Formats: sequence, C-alpha cells, structure tokens
Amino acid sequence: RPRSPALRGGRRMRDDGRQTVRYPQGNVLLRNLARDFPVITHGQGIHLFDARGKRYLDASAGALVASVGHGNREVVDRIHEQLLRVAYVNGTHFTTEVTEALASRLCALAPPGLDRAAFLGSGSEAVEAAVKFARQLWVERGQPQRTKVIARVPGYHGNTLYALSLSGRPHYKTFFGPLLSEVITTPAPYPYRSGLEDYARDGAEHYARLLEETLRREGPDTIAAFIAEPVIGSSAGASPPPPGYFERVSALCREYGILTIADEVMCGCGRTGRFFASELFDFQPDLLVLGKGISGGYAPLSALLVKQAHVEEMRQGSGGFMHAQTYLQAPAMTAAGLAVLDYFERYDLVSHAASVGAHFQRKLREVLSPLPFVGSVQGVGLLAGVELVEDTPSRRPFPRARKVVERLLAKLLERGLVLWSNTGHADGVHGDLLMLGPPLIITEAEVDELVDTLSRGIRQFFQEES
Ligand code: PLP
Repeated sequence: RPRSPALRGGRRMRDDGRQTVRYPQGNVLLRNLARDFPVITHGQGIHLFDARGKRYLDASAGALVASVGHGNREVVDRIHEQLLRVAYVNGTHFTTEVTEALASRLCALAPPGLDRAAFLGSGSEAVEAAVKFARQLWVERGQPQRTKVIARVPGYHGNTLYALSLSGRPHYKTFFGPLLSEVITTPAPYPYRSGLEDYARDGAEHYARLLEETLRREGPDTIAAFIAEPVIGSSAGASPPPPGYFERVSALCREYGILTIADEVMCGCGRTGRFFASELFDFQPDLLVLGKGISGGYAPLSALLVKQAHVEEMRQGSGGFMHAQTYLQAPAMTAAGLAVLDYFERYDLVSHAASVGAHFQRKLREVLSPLPFVGSVQGVGLLAGVELVEDTPSRRPFPRARKVVERLLAKLLERGLVLWSNTGHADGVHGDLLMLGPPLIITEAEVDELVDTLSRGIRQFFQEES
C-alpha cells in the first residue's frame, strides 16, 4: 500500500478520467473496508459529481445533511465572511455575534420555554450534552439518585459511548460492551412491526402502557430523563408516532417528574415540513437536540436547546452547566448555521419542504407500494423509509447473508442514484431499509425523477435475482 504522497509534497499525479486525482486512494480509514468509493469532486444543487464526471442524484442528502443543496454560494459566502473576521474563539471565554444571533433565532422558533442554546460539532455530542445536562440538573435539585435515562428500541442517538448506549441498534454495539448500565429501554412505536391490529387507534395507549411499566419497574425517582426521536430515523425507516403518543408519554413523564428530550438530529430543521418535528406531534420537550441539516453540511454543527428556568436553577446552584468541548459555540460552525437559517427564511424552505414533501410521500406510496418485495413505505415530509422483505404477507426479512440492500444500493449507484440504507435486521428488529431524505430544495419534477429511477432500479434488481 503506497504511503501518502502528502508526506512527499503531494506531487504524484494520476489521471483518473476527466479530472486529475493527485493522491492514490488507500490511506483513509473507511467504514466499509471491503470496497473503494468513488471520488467526489464537486456538487451542485441536489447532485454530486465524481472524478469521472458521473452525476449522482443525492437522494438522502448524504446522511440527511445537505438540506440547502450542494455548491450553495449564498451560504458559502457568509461563512467565508465570518472566517475572515474570526474563525475561532474559546467558547468558555467569549461569545460572538454569529453565535448569539443563531441562538436567539433558533430559540424564537423553538417550542415554548426552550430559550437557551449550546452549539457543538455533531449529533452524538449534542445528545451527550443533553443527557449530561439532565443529570446535572437532578444533582443540583438534591436528587442525585436520578441517574437513569430511558431510551427506546428501535432508536438511534449516536455513536459515542453514551449516545451508543442510548441507541437501540444492537449490532452497532457488538464490540463495545459493557456500555453504560444506567440506560433503560422501552419499545418505540414502529407501525410496520407493532403487531397491533389498529396501530393508529391503539398505538399511543399500548406504547404508553409499556413505558409506564418500565418506569414503575425501575422506580421513577431513579430516572433523570426520557429521550425519543419524534420521527424515528435510520433505525425504523422514518416511523412517525401514532396519534396522541407524545401527549401520553409526556403526561407520564410530567407525573413522575422525568425530563423529556427530543432528538431531532435527523427529523428536525424542516425535514418534516415543520422546522421542529416535535411541533407536528404536540411534543413540548424539556430539551431538544438538532444536528445534520442545521448547517447543511457546510460545517460540523449541532445544537442543544434547553429551558431558561433550568439554566437558572444551575446558575443559583453550582453556577453553570459543567460541560465544554474545544469547538463549543465556535463561530466557524455557527456562521454556517446562521447562513443556512437565513437561506431557509429567504426561500421559505420549510413551506417548500411541506408541499414538495406531501408530493414525495404520495408518489413514493403510489409507485413503490405495488412493487414485489416492498413491505412498507412510510415517512413524513421529505423523510421516508422503504422496507424490503422476502415475504410481504408474513413481513419476513430477507436472510442477512443475501445482503439485499447493499447489492441493490450498488445497482442504484450505477444508475446515478445514491441513497442511505440500514441493514439492521441483524438486530432482529426489521428488514432491509432504504432511507430517503433529499435536500429540501428538491422540486416536484426532481422528486418524480428520483422515485421513478428508484422504482426502475428495484424492479430490475429483483428481476435479475429471480
Ligand atoms: N440522533 C439521531 C436521531 C441521528 O439520526 C444521528 C445520526 O444519524 C445522531 C443522533 C448522531 O449524530 P452524529 O452522527 O452527527 O453524531
């Protein structure tokens, strides 16, 4: 394996199709070691282009990140301006205009009471900060025994050890046990696999009862917080809750004094057709976490929103939240968030996502549901999941060894369509999942192109399989 020519001044040149690639591939530690990846040279709008000039429709906005599209000069110019002013200040010594502006603008949009914001670099970090905030608050209140956090299965909250402990995706945890034991799980609403005869009618009652059993078993006064994704993302294919679910679980949490945390890393920032997904379900959490689309990928950025009343308790107690990281409130990141938020407002992107999202959901169901091996199509706004199964009547997943979703994605990539997937049925939770969530700037015509290409790809794949 060649050593990186960067150490030798990067002079080695290699011709690879249209573009000249300066470095050989091989030194980056990739998640999937079994294959090489196309080298992306640039992006524009909803498309990415590789070194050979091939165009890809970015049907999952990368990892549900590229909310305002690629090559967005209005956003880049604003970040550039900030970088020339100041790129970094220590967030425990100073604040900056862009960081204050982003905090006040987000808090003005947020559900009631969420009027303080902290900015970090990733969803996992913001989730960690949220549960640490909740735990510190209980210590300040003289209830240090409230250390447990209730999380749901399926569910995903990130990949650092605390966030992973909170995540109901067992196969991610294979090599890392024992994880934090102070995490307790309860089943999450998952329409396709709930086993309920009438999910919409009985779902809220059913899952709230399961949560209450969990709370009573563990002892409510040992529990600090309950964390949930308003729309479950990658671990359950964009599952919305049944009607009334968040009202029921919020009432339970209030009754037992448990703090609620909304993880909107994937479903927040306009993806559901509302800026905050919690609003769609009358969920008024005590803490709320954003990530991914908040910066559209123009900088690593996540946000934790908390209540002023809780901050005040800390101020009067120990003096403040005992949490800091190097990139806390860094202006290079918050400038990206502010530029993206301005772009959202200038082009009314949330309303656009709501109307194009309604078309997206209709079109997906109409075109994909009749296809063989498509078990379910679900989602909200511009977030959707498609579950493929070997047998639709029994909902039996394909055997994992067939690697259906991986091979299908490779075929779709050849057609110029790039999607995210989840092979979580290794967990025994669900089958092969396709995750869809294009940039929010997508048009109806581009949605049609996306869904038609996907449908042709699925048809051809299963024809070749049979
Ligand atoms: N929470 C949810 C709901 C997510 O979907 C993700 C990532 O996919 C995370 C947290 C973790 O975010 P990150 O990968 O930025 O750490």
